[in-house]
Amino acid sequence: MATTSFTKKTLGLENGEPAVTPPTTETQANFLKKPKLAAAPPRKRDIPEGLWTKCKKCGVMMYDKELDDNLKVCPKCQYHFPIAARERIHALVETCSFEESDASMESVDILQFTGASSYTSKLEQYKKSTKLKDAVCTGIGRMGKYRVALGVMDFGFLGGSMGSVVGERLTRLIEAATGKGLPVIIISASGGARMYEGTFSLMQLAKTCGALAYHAKAKLPYLSVLTNPTMAGVMASFAAVGDLILAEPGAMIGFAGPRVIESTTQSELPPGFQTAEFLLEHGLIDAIVPRGEMKARLCSYLEYLMVGREQLAALGG
Ligand SMILES: [Zn+2]
Repeated sequence: MATTSFTKKTLGLENGEPAVTPPTTETQANFLKKPKLAAAPPRKRDIPEGLWTKCKKCGVMMYDKELDDNLKVCPKCQYHFPIAARERIHALVETCSFEESDASMESVDILQFTGASSYTSKLEQYKKSTKLKDAVCTGIGRMGKYRVALGVMDFGFLGGSMGSVVGERLTRLIEAATGKGLPVIIISASGGARMYEGTFSLMQLAKTCGALAYHAKAKLPYLSVLTNPTMAGVMASFAAVGDLILAEPGAMIGFAGPRVIESTTQSELPPGFQTAEFLLEHGLIDAIVPRGEMKARLCSYLEYLMVGREQLAALGG
């Protein structure tokens, strides 16, 4: 019904009806009056949307193209904006070398969750906006001279939350890597477990870590990269058990949020708490790597770790 009335209004000219209420004599008089300059509201600068982005940290305005070319990093202050999973994969693997796995796997609303909006409608909404089936993209690609099993999370899909599909795709990726003797790289960006799936999302914590344990037994390296933010259920499972744990500058990393911790412990948290820099200083992560250097650094770590493995194999270890 709403569509019909909307169509009528838009095509108002066809049936001879005016689309809007005709102005009264009073409003016509006001319209003809010269506006008082002093009373005019301050005008905002007209900036066409979708062309410019303002840096959240330093406030500089930059062309979207400039930002895209710089892998969504502010050229002035190095603030790392969120980046979509596919863009990140494109920046990491060699051209045309990535083969996506389990691309058609989709979440089901097993609990028939309804709240302010249903889980099904949320899934539909994010599938459209991100053009992904769920919050992770997995597959095998080549980085430098090594083939790697790569899993990249996308915060843009329901806050990068881990439901059954995220857990299952990552587990299958890790298992494939174990079978093929490949290293695993997982790039996390997540608010934690997916509440819409209740316990089913919590099961993913154990499942992913179980698969990683078999991968480790096969003496294969697993590099975990934490990006802004990596929190809660994801940080409490696969993201925290890398042979090497790297993070992007300024990333927020932790389990519970700072307000929860403050109210539970009744104490003030130190400045910079739960930032990548703070965690590096306190030994939770191994290195902070800017996005622009990520590929080169991952390749050099892989070379180091895989050469060691080849030597071990040669010694029969
Ligand atoms: Zn900036």
